[in-house]
Amino acid sequence: MHRNQISKAAFSLFLALVLLCSVCSSALGSTLADAYASAQRFSRTDLSAFDTVITLVAFAPDQASFDRAADRAFEKIQLLDHIFDGYNAYDDLHNLYYVNLHAAHAPVEVPDDLFQLLSWCKEQWAAGRRETNIAMGAVLSLWHEYRTAGALHPEEAQLPPMEALTAASQHIDFDNVVLDAEKQTVFFSDPDLTLDIGAVAKGYAADAVGRILYEDMPSFLLSLGGNVYAGNAPLDGRSNWAVGVQNPDVTQNGTLDILDVHDKTVVTSGDYWRYYTVDGQRYHHIIDPETLMPSRKMVSVTILCESSILADFLSTALFVLPYEEGRQVADSLDGVEVMWILPDGSIHFTDGMKDYARSMKKPA
Ligand code: ADP
Ligand code: MG
Repeated sequence: MHRNQISKAAFSLFLALVLLCSVCSSALGSTLADAYASAQRFSRTDLSAFDTVITLVAFAPDQASFDRAADRAFEKIQLLDHIFDGYNAYDDLHNLYYVNLHAAHAPVEVPDDLFQLLSWCKEQWAAGRRETNIAMGAVLSLWHEYRTAGALHPEEAQLPPMEALTAASQHIDFDNVVLDAEKQTVFFSDPDLTLDIGAVAKGYAADAVGRILYEDMPSFLLSLGGNVYAGNAPLDGRSNWAVGVQNPDVTQNGTLDILDVHDKTVVTSGDYWRYYTVDGQRYHHIIDPETLMPSRKMVSVTILCESSILADFLSTALFVLPYEEGRQVADSLDGVEVMWILPDGSIHFTDGMKDYARSMKKPA
């Protein structure tokens, strides 16, 4: 992850997390009642990984138990931040930066977490889901370079030249990323190919950290920027965690809707988080592999399901697809619910969202 300032966007999302919700009226079993009686709510916020605000809220018997579990969770976050970092080297770690430098010369053995992430994405590619293409580093790095320069010197902001984008797009074929599961190595058979895993890294991390939290402190809400992972319901009588969906009009700083969830992940990709302005027009960070330009079909796409890497992957893919095509993809996947916000202001939901989105629930 690159280390610029914590973005305004991440703070917007932080504010969008609503931690209060509806009251559960059901009778409690004695074990649960004991847990309710002894558990307290604790929280920790961290700014040092994934270039975003990370917040953990959880119920634990006491501060020491919370600290122990939170330390383990945040250690894993730090480790993954280093493994998935595409801009910095860390001693002998064969992280993303190292892979991008060396994998065209010879196969590079990589840590398990990086290999898992790459294999998962390759399966999606092989299955034909190609709108989220993590092998698109050559194109994405051009956009990154121009966006960073444009944000630093807004009066000189420029778009990457289309010729350069087109030339780079000759080197984004995921088939040229060769994975060897036995040796856990990565090799690029195209020397100009690089990986950019920004579309799924936080999702993978949320799943991995979620697994740790389930072992140690299962009633939790973890927010990694746009990725939220809700564990078991809060132990204070509420039946769900409430996750806010950011109003795309960030000047309003509010939530457009609230999703009531437990044991689910909620991931949003939006055009209002990372962008720069050229000649009065905003250019955000989600690139359509067909046009090589920021996709303008969506303002935001929110995915709700049980796997955060899938949610992260799909939030990017459905951001690039037209609504009708994205709707078909969503309807074909069990346990995946979606909320789309289009540039004309219209909002669409998959049918199953009625169980989660307050705006779709009938008044009692
Ligand atoms: P965010 O990083 O804001 O949570 P996303 O999950 O949608 O948003 O990921 C966007 C990031 O993914 C970009 O910053 C870029 O690094 C990368 N990216 C952009 N477009 C694509 C794409 N079509 N396929 C794969 N990765 C992409
Ligand atoms: Mg994503």
